Amino acid sequence: MVWIPPAIRPRGLWATAAALLLVSALAPDVPLAQPAPSFGAAAPTVPPSASASRVVVLLFEGFAPTLLSAAQTPAFDRLREEGAWTHRLTSVFPTQGWVNGASLATGCWPAQHGIVSEMFVDPERGDFDREPLHGWLTGCEPLGDAARRQGVAVHRFGWYGLDPDTEADRCDSGARRRDAGRRRALLDHLRAPADPAGATTRELVQARFCAPGDSIRRNGVDTPASAAVVAELDSFVGEVVAAIETRGDETLLFVVTDHGMRDVSHLIQLPRILAREGVDATVKAAGSTALLYLPEGADAAAIQQRLSAYDFFEVLSRDALPAYAHLGEGPRVPELILSAYPPYFIEAKSRWPYWLSALGLVAPDHLWAEWWRSATSGFVPRTPAMYGLVYVWGHGVEGGREAQALRVIDLHPTIAEVLGIAPGEPLDGRVATTLLRAAPSPGAEGGGSLP
Ligand SMILES: [Zn+2]
Repeated sequence: MVWIPPAIRPRGLWATAAALLLVSALAPDVPLAQPAPSFGAAAPTVPPSASASRVVVLLFEGFAPTLLSAAQTPAFDRLREEGAWTHRLTSVFPTQGWVNGASLATGCWPAQHGIVSEMFVDPERGDFDREPLHGWLTGCEPLGDAARRQGVAVHRFGWYGLDPDTEADRCDSGARRRDAGRRRALLDHLRAPADPAGATTRELVQARFCAPGDSIRRNGVDTPASAAVVAELDSFVGEVVAAIETRGDETLLFVVTDHGMRDVSHLIQLPRILAREGVDATVKAAGSTALLYLPEGADAAAIQQRLSAYDFFEVLSRDALPAYAHLGEGPRVPELILSAYPPYFIEAKSRWPYWLSALGLVAPDHLWAEWWRSATSGFVPRTPAMYGLVYVWGHGVEGGREAQALRVIDLHPTIAEVLGIAPGEPLDGRVATTLLRAAPSPGAEGGGSLP
């Protein structure tokens, strides 16, 4: 097989993609369309924030906002009308579930919480592959832990294994069945009558579901299968809303995701490329990024230069990470990170179908692989399809308002604000005041109080 140098391959499309990525990389780090409020002496009074004694957080894996146009979604339509929302939730790089689950929980960048990828190597603890987060965070306090410490009752349903001795659902085989079980358990919990003795107790309920991401990964974003899953989720959200209304207490509902999703088509044959370039590295790859841990004494700069000749991924150096990559320089961060340009993707060889592994060294540098993986995440945060959604509905929140942008790390301090507790420390996110503006006449239009 003859290898054609990238310089003479057709590359118009990739030059365009690279230019777009460059433009987005140069955009300000926090693309808030609304200017930050000024707190000078003459500043207008900051509107009061919504508050609630109970917060329910539903996290749906890989819920790209565009999915909402694929099906009838009466429940989401209602949340949009009566609550605040954004379709511009910016995820943390790499835009993978575990990284963003940790940032959502702690309000920190990976540099502080230490979950730098879905798969990585810790020099002391060994290999990480979507492990329960309890015990793997290197810093920062999950919201649930901070809430418990301050007297809030916390109930987690499939929440990344943050409670000791709980499993973290990797959303692989059986995810659909486990999701269904969690949906039932959550609804049972929400429908249980409020404990009269504990009527004033504050409560935080967090539930995570593998849908729609696990289905989209297999079927693609814009397909009948994903439309069916979205319709199912919409009716579940409707049941949650009904349960909250029936209880009639001061509850605020957050519907969030960890990242968007994008269709992909070609698997990068990384083992073959690394073999050709004589790169000896421990590789940890997931979705669209590969971490390259080089042996002691390897010339990282020379390897970076050689790999940069390939135009279907970008080669990032730990010593000069772009502004969107808040990974820090801790021992889990490798010397080099390959970040694929869509529609290319990278996956750990351990996850490849066995016969593809056999093809490994003879197949071309990238291989059409839609039959195996139709969509993924992990691309740089400002890839448009990587944006996620946030909906806030319920007690006292002003309805019908769209927030221009929000970051995954902002959800922790925002929910802490609603519950009236101090966020964990340290903290990188900040309160999303645009989402929480209280309704003008509290009580009159609150969730569940309409006649
Ligand atoms: Zn995910």
